[in-house]
Order: sequence, then C-alpha cells, then structure tokens
Amino acid sequence: MIATLLDFPHVIERLNDPVQVPGKNDMLAFYCPLHESSRRKGRCWINPHFGCLLLGCWSCGTDPQNGRSHKRKEIMSALGLTWRDCMPKEDVRKWMAVPGSRTIYHYKDEDGNPLYRVVRTEWQDDSGKRSKTFSQQRLFRDTDHLKDMVDKKWIKDMADTRRVIYRLPEVLKAIHNQRHIYFVEGEKKADLLWEMGFPSTCIAGGSNAHWLSGFTHSLSGADILILPDNDEPGITYGERVFAKLLLSNRMKSVSLFQLPDLPHSGDICDWVSAQDGGELVKIAYKFELLTAKSIPYGSIMIPKR
Ligand SMILES: [Zn+2]
Repeated sequence: MIATLLDFPHVIERLNDPVQVPGKNDMLAFYCPLHESSRRKGRCWINPHFGCLLLGCWSCGTDPQNGRSHKRKEIMSALGLTWRDCMPKEDVRKWMAVPGSRTIYHYKDEDGNPLYRVVRTEWQDDSGKRSKTFSQQRLFRDTDHLKDMVDKKWIKDMADTRRVIYRLPEVLKAIHNQRHIYFVEGEKKADLLWEMGFPSTCIAGGSNAHWLSGFTHSLSGADILILPDNDEPGITYGERVFAKLLLSNRMKSVSLFQLPDLPHSGDICDWVSAQDGGELVKIAYKFELLTAKSIPYGSIMIPKR
C-alpha cells in the first residue's frame, strides 16, 4: 500500500503554514525555511514509486547562483527532520535494482554535443512488484560541488541546462529528408522505432515535463505522428502535445494515432511484442501500413475516444 500525506503527521506539523496545492491530493505548499518569501515556495509530496515523503523548494532549486536541486537535505535539516522521518512505515530498502536493468539515454544538441542524460532503472520488491525510476543528469561543471557528482562526470541537478528533444540531430536530418516523425512517451520506445527504421523522438520526463518552445522549434516543418500510451495519463499527454504542436502553426501536419488492440497501459513496445514471431523488418512493414493510413498529408486528424 502506498503511503499518503496522512502517514506523516510528525513531518507536516513542522512545516510553516502548509496548504494543499490545488488539484494535487498528495502535495502541500509551505513557506520555505531557507529563504524569505511572501509566497509558499516549499513543496512536500509523496514519491509515487516508493511512498517516501519528499521536500523541496522550486525557488531554491532554480537559483542559478547555487542551483542545487530543490535543496532537499538543507530544508530537512532546517526543519529538524531526517530521512528516517520521511520513510513510509513499510521499509523502502526492500526495493532492489533489477540486475542489468539500468539503461542510459543521451540528449545532444544539434551538433551532437552531449547536454544531459536520462538513467532508467527498474526495481523489484520482495513480493515481485516492479517499478521504474528515471534520473536526469547533466555534465559536471567546474563550478559544481564535487560531492554532488554521480557516476564520474555527471550531476543530478539539471540547473539551467538547455533541454532538447531526444535524438535531436537525427530528427533534424529526418525532417530535412521529409520523413514523418513519431512522437512517443519515453526513450525506450523512440529507440525501438529507430531500430524499425522510423524517425522518432520524445522528451525527458514524459507526461510530467513542461513543454518548451524549443521543442516546437526543433520540430518545425515536420509531419508529426503522436503514438500515446494506452491509458488515461498517456492519452491526456498525447493530446497535450498534439495541441501544442497544432496551435504553433509550425508543423506540416500533426496526427494522434492509437495503435489497435493494445492492452491497458500498452505502447509500441507491447504492440511489437504481440506481433508473434517474425523479423523486425516485417513488423516494421506492418506498422508502416497501419500508420500510413492515419497520416493525411498536410492535414490534421483527431483520434476517436
Ligand atoms: Zn526556498
């Protein structure tokens, strides 16, 4: 059972005048102890994967002078809290990384220079329940603290790192060659589509990420086909991207296409797995026939719900 805010009264009583964030059941806003502000910039929420409580401050976290990510540890110690206070009653340490599950995806600028990376890890608990986490990390700079370094030259705090669409240099080339660009939720799906011969992209953070004008700019002049995951958050996200690209008036066409016969929460990876047997090239051909029908050249198609 996943924890809720009600499981942490000992933490919440220490927050300065907490109020619920509108529309977010499991998030509170409070006055951050680290900086003077007339607005509640501190946030307190439940980690959806592990049920522990997380504290942070967007204002402190985005300070370009010392841009430490959310200043979690400092906020906790200013409130007299330790990690132990923020753990759910069931011990979170029973989660173990699934061996060999760690995958790294690199984000690069137009010229192929690395900007940041996403580390995807799968976890499993004693009962066999699976979960996955995504960590965004940028390249370490001379001005960063050595103690914040993870895995040699990377740092978790993204600070003012420029955000781009996944596989940007290849996508730009594909747009130049008038190929259709598939937009999916997650790097694993984009990589699979590239393997099948279809130019594809996504953004780090998926449905939780802000859509930036730079993403629209990078996709300008493209025929876009969005393949949403088959669940409510996935479809809502697909529609949000669809609206952003459509309203920009900068795409040649934008379509949203739901693959047929997907299981709940299914995606292109499930669709490919379900085409039993067969080489990837044959599956790719079937996929092309299927999606080509849904691409009215230079026009817009709104999917059926
Ligand atoms: Zn703050």
